[in-house]
Amino acid sequence: MAINLWIGRFLIVHLENPVVSEHETVSATIEHEDELPEDHPRYQDLLTRHRIETGVEKGITHLQGMHAEGRGSAFDYLLGEETIPSARKAERAAAAHLLLADHPVLSINGNVAALVPGEMVDLAAAVDADLEINLFNRTPERMQAIADHLREHGATDVKGLEADARIPNLDHQRAKVDEDGIYEADVVVVPLEDGDRAEALEAMGKTEIVIDLNPLSRSPQVAEIPIVDNIIRAVPNMTEHALTLADADTDELRAIVESFDREQALEAAEARIRGGL
Ligand code: ATP
Repeated sequence: MAINLWIGRFLIVHLENPVVSEHETVSATIEHEDELPEDHPRYQDLLTRHRIETGVEKGITHLQGMHAEGRGSAFDYLLGEETIPSARKAERAAAAHLLLADHPVLSINGNVAALVPGEMVDLAAAVDADLEINLFNRTPERMQAIADHLREHGATDVKGLEADARIPNLDHQRAKVDEDGIYEADVVVVPLEDGDRAEALEAMGKTEIVIDLNPLSRSPQVAEIPIVDNIIRAVPNMTEHALTLADADTDELRAIVESFDREQALEAAEARIRGGL
């Protein structure tokens, strides 16, 4: 039944939008994202792919980031490429957590830097958080390219280059963090995170906010706040919530955090993916 619905949806989308494949070929030759047709039914997906391709070309994103993006894109398709109500609640709870935090840090990897550099800078400003680069495939060149890219998008202070502390129980490269950044943070936003590192951060007692389109992936499964949404939508939504809640008192923020049900959020996302609209 569910499969028939999926096939039906696939056919409807493709029959209603016979130009999809034409635009998909066009995107490979597009040099700047402004050239992407905004009225295209899959505009956001084209934009995401274009940003990842550019990230790889600039040495910001590892080639494996393309696989990660492909996985995310498939889940987003099944979610309907929109922020579902449970994700919106998670984004609001995440904003409240960040505003309550003593030392919040936003973790940046190669895909995050390629997809939402300016949006992460805006979120950091709205909740007074640090930005820290944390890579699975860490090289000095990629670290520097990402730091430069974030600065081009308005970041003033970028952490992660010192790497003077280690996340316990992780192998060497993936464990590297800044002592005055992720190591000491109480709340960390870890988008598109590898499951091992998410589990190791959770074991350190951090409050983890994970953005991941796959609700079954280990990272959202261990997160206090799993946000099952495309990072392209999730980060601006979190910033909007943070700005709206800027004058809220501690009791109101705590009430938002406490009323969030992580199990329900994960179940709602899985139900949408398996069952459709
Ligand atoms: P595990 O957590 O079990 O290690 P994995 O190996 O699939 O899972 P990674 O490849 O480390 O995870 O990370 C990629 C994750 O990021 C995938 O779960 C994918 O769904 C998600 N993802 C990819 N692109 C986006 C995006 N634009 N927005 C949100 N999530 C995304």
